[in-house]
Amino acid sequence: MIHGFIPPERFFAYLTWQDIEMMTEKENTVIIQPIGAIEQHGYHLPLIVDAAISQGVLGKALSLLNPTIPAYSLPTLYYGKSNEHDGFAGTISLSAHTLYSLIEETVISIYQAGFRKLILMNSHGGQPQIMEIIARDLHQKFPDLSIFPLFTWKVPNITNELLTPEEKELGIHAGDAETSLMLALLPHQVKMDLAVKEYPRNLSSNLLSMEGNLPFAWLTREVSETGVMGDATVATQEKGYQILASLAQGWVKVIEEVYQF
Ligand SMILES: [Zn+2]
Repeated sequence: MIHGFIPPERFFAYLTWQDIEMMTEKENTVIIQPIGAIEQHGYHLPLIVDAAISQGVLGKALSLLNPTIPAYSLPTLYYGKSNEHDGFAGTISLSAHTLYSLIEETVISIYQAGFRKLILMNSHGGQPQIMEIIARDLHQKFPDLSIFPLFTWKVPNITNELLTPEEKELGIHAGDAETSLMLALLPHQVKMDLAVKEYPRNLSSNLLSMEGNLPFAWLTREVSETGVMGDATVATQEKGYQILASLAQGWVKVIEEVYQF
């Protein structure tokens, strides 16, 4: 089904143009663009992880959202900017410029339809900066457009409580959290027998890190053999259900706040 994890009554592309023309509270209606990536996630996870997480978490959140709050999911943007995974077969990467234009032109269309509140819900760690630049540029161009460049995992949620300290710091890709969540969302696409534990190698600095306050630019192939950065072997479906429920609750709160913003 084309709406995937999104409840059909919350799927923007199932509306007709007249449904949209006749909407009464369009300026407060929350439009959400789920954004992912098609990129390698080790031996055990499919390429679609980041897109599946955006759509899966959003679908769960929309199913819990008070039906009186108008909110719609746009079709998931599957492709992202994934050039840090260059060299791993199957990774599909848009340039920053292409991704910027694609989202910019999508948002302008939504604005022209009369909507004034839009969330960019991104699950891929390689592109939050692009979302922030787009949001600032479009808000400057259309000051009455409220636009929110948000990262799926940053809403209030319990994930960190379920991870070891080492995993919290170094498990940045295809590790415990993503694998557990995928076991909840798409269990038949996870090959747990191929899961590995691999933390980034060649990290010699105390001050400089991959994703900390003082980061350096990196490519996955420089720090990982399998493509995993984290411990996927300890992932469980039970943890995945807990993470999914908690992220969805966090997203319900965010959508409510955007509605009232
Ligand atoms: Zn990922």
